Amino acid sequence: MNMQRRHLLTATSAAVGLSLAGLAAPVWAKAPMAGNQVISVHRMKLGNFEVTTILDGFIELDPKLLNAPQDMVQRLFEAANLPYGPIRTPVNTFLVNTGDKLVLLDTGGAKFLGPTAGRLVQGLAAAGVEPAQIDEIYITHMHGDHLHGAVTPEGVALFPNAVLRIAQQDVDYWLNPDIEAAAPVAQKGRFMPAKRAKAAYGDRLKPFKQGEELTPGITSVAAVGHTPGHSCFMVQSGTAKMLAIGDLIHIAPVQFANPEVTIAFDWEQAKASGSRMNMFDMAAKDNILVAAVHLPFPGLGTLKKEGKSYTYTPMTWRLF
Ligand SMILES: [Zn+2]
Repeated sequence: MNMQRRHLLTATSAAVGLSLAGLAAPVWAKAPMAGNQVISVHRMKLGNFEVTTILDGFIELDPKLLNAPQDMVQRLFEAANLPYGPIRTPVNTFLVNTGDKLVLLDTGGAKFLGPTAGRLVQGLAAAGVEPAQIDEIYITHMHGDHLHGAVTPEGVALFPNAVLRIAQQDVDYWLNPDIEAAAPVAQKGRFMPAKRAKAAYGDRLKPFKQGEELTPGITSVAAVGHTPGHSCFMVQSGTAKMLAIGDLIHIAPVQFANPEVTIAFDWEQAKASGSRMNMFDMAAKDNILVAAVHLPFPGLGTLKKEGKSYTYTPMTWRLF
């Protein structure tokens, strides 16, 4: 027996002895049930930047929303060991501290998504950040689960000092009363987040041109299709890069293996899947960390291409 093993055995015997001693005179710690999850915040370094994921909460997405044969979807769920039915879908937001600015990428859905989301403010507090400190907010697209969090339930800008930056095409589309009037009744509610944001932020809502560098180290990238102005954000400090991919993926067990599969919320199906593949190809080729709103917290990982499919490897947690 080598010394290391003997040492281990001695330690184990000591532990057994301790627990036996505990049994002889039990002391049971009693604590009330917490009844809720601890606010979820994850921070990492990206070059000289800090990137903090704040989990706003989750929504349940029905796989029937996918534009794909349901027998195939069901098979892929089974292969992933998931019950076929509504899938728990996280809503992540990402806070980037560039050293000069605090920039928030998407804002979650506030309570418009129901009681399981809308924890951004508590998440910011847990991260030691007050809403008034946020300088800029970049929105991947104007759907409620990305934009509602910028506005309080009373309709006031939650971030009193921030400018709200959104691609021009999304602003033009979602704030166009004619497009809203022509939309089917069931879809009219989708225009509400844009109208609330415009009412709350006024001239502080500043459209950008896709491709524009929004602040040193963060550049918008066109990834149109999910909405007319859906954008990714490339965050770069030194050689470290992260691509915030917004809604390029919703239902991971299906859309990584079959990136051509779109979802009912996609504005133009072919463009949506085309953008997914373009951005995923770039991230896979250059081994760029992706930051996804709807992948499990903290929404960070890398992609590998195999044939027409992608595999996603979640990043390990960072402690520093
Ligand atoms: Zn979304």
